[in-house]
Amino acid sequence: MRIFKFGGASVQDAPGIQNVVKVLETVGHQNTLLVVSAMGKTTNAMEVVVKNYFEDKGKLQESFDTIYDYHYKIALELFETKQHPIFARLDELFEQVRGFLAWNKSPKYSFVYDQVVGYGELISTSIISAYLAKCGMTNSWLDVRDCIKTNDNYREGTVDWEHTQQCIAEKVDKNKLYVTQGFLGSDDNNFTTTLGREGSDYTAAIFAYCLNADSVTIWKDVPGVLNADPRYFENAELLNKISYREAIELAFYGASVIHPKTLQPLQRKEIPLHVKSFANPTAEGTVVMKGESISPKIPCFIVKKDLVLMKLSSLDFSFIVEENISEIFKLFSDNRMKVDLIQNSAISFSVCVDNKFNKLDDLLNTLKSKFKVSHYEDVSLYTIRHFNDQAINSLQNGKEVLVEQRTQQTVQLVVK
Ligand code: ADP
Ligand code: ASP
Ligand code: MG
Repeated sequence: MRIFKFGGASVQDAPGIQNVVKVLETVGHQNTLLVVSAMGKTTNAMEVVVKNYFEDKGKLQESFDTIYDYHYKIALELFETKQHPIFARLDELFEQVRGFLAWNKSPKYSFVYDQVVGYGELISTSIISAYLAKCGMTNSWLDVRDCIKTNDNYREGTVDWEHTQQCIAEKVDKNKLYVTQGFLGSDDNNFTTTLGREGSDYTAAIFAYCLNADSVTIWKDVPGVLNADPRYFENAELLNKISYREAIELAFYGASVIHPKTLQPLQRKEIPLHVKSFANPTAEGTVVMKGESISPKIPCFIVKKDLVLMKLSSLDFSFIVEENISEIFKLFSDNRMKVDLIQNSAISFSVCVDNKFNKLDDLLNTLKSKFKVSHYEDVSLYTIRHFNDQAINSLQNGKEVLVEQRTQQTVQLVVK
């Protein structure tokens, strides 16, 4: 069996969805499970709905309407007549979210978030499954929440592998074509959970692992994995082959073309991961598999933006040692802030973190009661794997470097 993942960019409009059919016609669609994300930027739009629900109920309807109109227009382009059953299905899904919000009593943001945001994927897969059927590709719409079981850590569910394996074995027949949702799972009470933003790649890997799939292909708006994000670097070059280990490193440092959790399950069963262009499905793209680290062996550039750099030192000139460091890390973990880089000396400790959950102010208040703290917001972390002098110079050019760190393979610069 093969697992294909189509991300938001590939299904952002009607021509995109028609192109999915073209891709499947070109490369075949037998014994294939399609993992599909929400269309375009729908997850961001769903996040606005949740925000309005908690903070500005007056705007709730408007934020719903935007999402409804966007999908309705795409469906109308694909199905041409409002008589098609997909329109009743769309209404039903939107009614479900409205119903949930009308009845909900939970004040927990992350819980509500998962119950609402997941509809992006439920809607997109309903439209795509119906459209494939219209084009003669018989398929089954699979509710991923019956397959992927997680704990109740909403917005970042941890997979219960044993239970998931069992559910997938029960629900999936390896000889069929399926369409299912990326990003979602469900907890023991069958409430929807999500696997973290951009988590659909990971969904593909979970299915691949549990089904012992032959391969995973993620279809992208780029020719494959490049040695840099083409949005920020000119002349990015295609990498033909990458080892699992190297790909894990690149994803970990922030190469956002592959979600970092995706590689580990694939590596454990040595299932190859192809990253290919949905605009050019017969091109080779990139394969991540067992073997040499990277080919061609060229420097790889990764940038993470909107980070916070904090410099902590002791109030009384005492050393910063294990005890304080473990306390600091516990605070980051409690505030769900991911640590991207650390550097320490006897009396100071620098750390670069993200602030996705807007916890910075709380955290700074706590830290300032115990340490001298200075911090810089909106810094960028550049990482170069397989660096050389020319690569470093090209980055430093005209920027204020706040921290630099080198290991044998990797150099990292925090810049303002
Ligand atoms: P989707 O969610 O539609 O699957 P993403 O937008 O998450 O796709 O990933 C594709 C994007 O990843 C590209 O448009 C590109 O800007 C970005 N990207 C970041 N790093 C790289 C890289 N090293 N190689 C290729 N693309 C990259
Ligand atoms: N739709 C989700 C997101 O935008 C998951 C994904 O696309 O991978 O984060
Ligand atoms: Mg994505």
